[in-house]
Amino acid sequence: MSPTTAAPPPHILVFPYPAQGHTIPLLDLIHQLCLRNLTNITIITTPKNLPTLSPLLTVHPVIGTLVLPFPPHPDLPPGVENVKEIGNSGNLPIVVSLSKLHDPIVQWFKSHDNPPVALISDFFLGFTLQMAREMGIPRFTFFTSGAYLAAVADYLWHRPELAKGMKVVDFVDLPGSPSFTELRLPSTFRRYKPGDPDWEFFRNGMIANLLSYGCVFNSFEALEFEYLEYVKRKTKVYSVGPLSLLGLNREIREDLETGSGHDVFRWLDECPDGSVLYVCFGSQKLMNKNQMEAVASALEKSMTRFLWVVKTGTTREEEAGYGLVPGGFEERVGGRGLVIRGWAPQVQILSHRAVGGFLSHCGWNSVLESVVSGVMILGWPMEADQFVDARLLVDELGVGVRVCEGADTVPDSVELAGKIAESLSGDVVQERVRARGLKDKALVAVRDGGSSCTDLDGLAKEFFNFLRSS
Ligand code: UDP
Repeated sequence: MSPTTAAPPPHILVFPYPAQGHTIPLLDLIHQLCLRNLTNITIITTPKNLPTLSPLLTVHPVIGTLVLPFPPHPDLPPGVENVKEIGNSGNLPIVVSLSKLHDPIVQWFKSHDNPPVALISDFFLGFTLQMAREMGIPRFTFFTSGAYLAAVADYLWHRPELAKGMKVVDFVDLPGSPSFTELRLPSTFRRYKPGDPDWEFFRNGMIANLLSYGCVFNSFEALEFEYLEYVKRKTKVYSVGPLSLLGLNREIREDLETGSGHDVFRWLDECPDGSVLYVCFGSQKLMNKNQMEAVASALEKSMTRFLWVVKTGTTREEEAGYGLVPGGFEERVGGRGLVIRGWAPQVQILSHRAVGGFLSHCGWNSVLESVVSGVMILGWPMEADQFVDARLLVDELGVGVRVCEGADTVPDSVELAGKIAESLSGDVVQERVRARGLKDKALVAVRDGGSSCTDLDGLAKEFFNFLRSS
C-alpha cells in the first residue's frame, strides 16, 4: 500500500446496489479506500438496507450515510428494499425505484458545504452517470462481476436487435471472438423487452457503464488480463480484486455468518486434505424436487465426502419439494457427508484444507472465493453471468470442469457422480493443480506491489487529484 498523504481527504459518494453479492465487495473496496486515508465517504442507502453497512461503520465510524426512503414501484411488494427479499426478478423494479432518488440526491449534493468530488456506484445503477454529470463529478462504475462479463454485456446492450432471438451470438469484437448460444447469454439481456420503458431505462444504464469516467473490477490481472485490456480501450480500468482477501471482508463475513464456530469445522478437521466436495449454488438458488433428488443421488453414488448447503423455501415451496432433502438420505450417507440448511460460512469452508472441490453455479463471488482458496470448480452455470464465468474458468483457465448447465436442468445422477468422484481423485487432476497455481497469483495480486494493490493505490491517488483540481 502506498504511504498515506497528509492532505485532507476528498469527499466520495458511494451508491451500492441492494443485493448481498453486490454490497459486500463494495464495502470491502470502501474499507480499502479508508485505509488509504479516504475517510470522507458518504454511502447512499435506504432504511432497511442500513444494517448491512454496520460492520463497515463499526470499523470506520467516520463514514457518513445518506438514508433515503425506498421509492415504491407497482411490481414490488411494499417493504421490499433488497433483492434477497424478492429474488432476481426484482432487479428491474428495484433499479427503476432507486432511480427516483435522483432528485433528493442532487438536492443533498447542492446543499452540502463540502460536496463529493466523485461517485462510485454499482454497475446496475448506470443511470447514476447522468446524475453525476448533473453534479459535475466523475462517476466510477463498480463491477461485482468480471471484465469478461462487462465486455459481453456492453456488446449486447449496444445491439438490442440480438434480444429478438438468435441461436448463437458471435462476439467478434472480444478477445478470442467467443460465441454463446442464446440460452447462455446473461439473463438480464435475455429478459430484456425492447420498447418497454423500464427495460429501455435499464439498457441505457448498462450502456452508461463503460462510458463512465472509470471502471473498478473485483477481479485481477492474472484472472482475466485480456478482458481487462479490452475494457481499457473504452475507459479507465482499476482491477482491485479479489476483494475478499483484503481485510474487512473477513470481519464482515464473520458477523454475517452466524454459523462461524459451526460444527462443520469440527467435522472438516477430521477429514483428509482435499477430500471434501463443497456444494452450494449461491445465496438464492432454490432447487426443485427433481434437482434435489438428482444431486442427493449423485452425492450418494459418488462415495465422496461432501458438505451440501441447501437453501430452504417457504412452507408452500417445501410442500412442492423445493429445497427438500430426500427422506433417509442423511442417514444413508452419515459420517461421509453433511447437509447444512440455510446459510453456511462459505469463505471459511472453502479455505479449509479438507475441501478439494466446489460444485458451484459459478456466481462471480463464488468464483473468486474458490480461486483464492485454490479449490477447483465443478461448474453448473444456471443464469445471469454464470455461463460467461464458467467459460473463463473451464475453457480458458482450465481450473474447473463443467458438470451440468441450466437453472432447471436435472442432471443424470450417475454421470454427475462419476464427474464428482473423478474430480476429487487427487493430484492427478490437472484442474486442481492449475487452481492452486491461480491462487498463488491471486495472493501476489493483493500484496504490496501486486497488480490489484497498485490499482487500489492508483484509484486512491486519482481521488486525491480530484480534490486538488476542484
Ligand atoms: N454465501 C455464503 N453462504 C451461503 C451461500 C452464499 O457465504 O450459504 C455467499 C458466498 O460466499 C458468496 C455469495 O454468498 O460470497 C454468493 O455470491 P455469488 O456471486 O456466488 O452468487 P449469487 O448469490 O449472487 O447467485
